[in-house]
Amino acid sequence: NNAKLHEEIRKLAITDGLTGLYNYRYFQEDLRNEIERCKRLKYGGLSLLLMDIDHFKQFNDLYGHQKGDMVLERVGTLLNVHTRKTDVVARYGGEEFVVIAPGTPKENGLLLGERIRQAMSEKLFSHEEKNQLGITLPVTISIGIATFPNDASNQEELIKCADNALYSAKNAGRDRVVGWDSMLKIN
Ligand code: GH3
Ligand code: MG
Ligand code: MG
Repeated sequence: NNAKLHEEIRKLAITDGLTGLYNYRYFQEDLRNEIERCKRLKYGGLSLLLMDIDHFKQFNDLYGHQKGDMVLERVGTLLNVHTRKTDVVARYGGEEFVVIAPGTPKENGLLLGERIRQAMSEKLFSHEEKNQLGITLPVTISIGIATFPNDASNQEELIKCADNALYSAKNAGRDRVVGWDSMLKIN
């Protein structure tokens, strides 16, 4: 019983309440472990996908916070559907999400990002649901990707690279996937 309780407390501590995804704390923990594993096994790189819903403030203002929350839940489901069992999907913050994809070189990370981006604008809600909810705007997402060890030599740097790539995706017009490259400066 004690072990069960302990397990439940641990689960609560690493889970995001709204989406059921892992939370920021677990993300940092898992990324640290995966980077160490990647160093030992050298199995073809680890890609980090950092994503942020486009114009989400506007969505909330138009349709209300409750429908905004539904979008976040749905994004969580969609991310789980489009990733592997070995990937870790987490809510990074408000309307920001991350995927840790071990054993995934840059090209494959970009393909995964593109699949997620397309699924977002096409299938987040069915046509029927959209009518019921009165949602007319498509919900899109911008994705920044960085790969270990190609782009960065440690965890902090890897996150910064993905964040820079995300920033660049936003600047380039949103609803797109950008892989970090040395042209994007780290600040
Ligand atoms: P951008 O395309 O530049 O990302 O624009 P944005 O409006 O998404 O960016 P900004 O950071 O200005 O706004 C983020 C919005 O996300 C504002 C906030 O109300 C909303 N948000 C954050 N967390 C939650 C949440 O848990 N539920 C809901 N409904 N909205 C949230
Ligand atoms: Mg944001
Ligand atoms: Mg946003």
